[in-house]
Amino acid sequence: MLDYFSHSRLQSYKKCPAQFYIRYIEGVRKPDEGIEAFLGKRIHETLEHLYSRQLATEFPPSLDTVLASFSDLWKSNWHSRIAIVNRFMGVRDYFRLGESMLARFYRIHFPFDQPVIATEERLEFSLDDSGNYLMVGILDRVDRLNGKGIVIHDYKTGKRALTQQAADKDEQLALYQLGWELTREPAESFQLVWHFLQPGFVVHSTRTSDELTRLKKKIICNIDQIRDHVEGKKPFMPHETKLCYWCYYWEECPAKQGSNPVMKHV
Ligand code: SF4
Repeated sequence: MLDYFSHSRLQSYKKCPAQFYIRYIEGVRKPDEGIEAFLGKRIHETLEHLYSRQLATEFPPSLDTVLASFSDLWKSNWHSRIAIVNRFMGVRDYFRLGESMLARFYRIHFPFDQPVIATEERLEFSLDDSGNYLMVGILDRVDRLNGKGIVIHDYKTGKRALTQQAADKDEQLALYQLGWELTREPAESFQLVWHFLQPGFVVHSTRTSDELTRLKKKIICNIDQIRDHVEGKKPFMPHETKLCYWCYYWEECPAKQGSNPVMKHV
């Protein structure tokens, strides 16, 4: 189960060791899905289609085509285990929210002539030469800037955006830069770009090579801690926060009883 790590696996351990244990060590998988996660996936797929089509044809699709693609993806992926926590929002509200995020993205980025070289690019890389610290990451979009620079884009569909200060310390895209440097052709420069689609703004950041070296050491240390924890057979303690409302593992969680009462399937 721990043959490789990813940013989300490391975050899961940090946020709630019990959830990490249930999901990644015991391997419990649930069919349940919060509607926010469902919406996020459909937005990512729609933008991937948009840029793949653009790469293939060089003609920008109309907004109607983009929204029809979103609607098709929404309908074809819908399933009976989607749940809503927010009692002030219904399915239709989330669908409209998705349309409004895409319409704004469309207005800002039309005619989609950004120098895109990849979408949903999967990177697998080792943080050291031993091969014991394998990482996996999926990059939402990669552009090539002025022929020699690389821009790594990430789409976020949640309500909150990172401040500049938080983006400058964020580990996810910095890890992706590390992965690109380790597995792809060299680049003269890198930019990290977050698109916060719901609040509607973009944040840029860069990393120095010293910062990346420090990050690499930190992640190796985090992975060692997790492996020591597993091998030491110490309990993985639950960390209860309001995020528990979006957790599907109440039945397995030592801090909870029964199933999540807030998550209502629609
Ligand atoms: S319900 Fe809360 S404490 Fe329990 S596993 Fe999930 S996130 Fe952790």
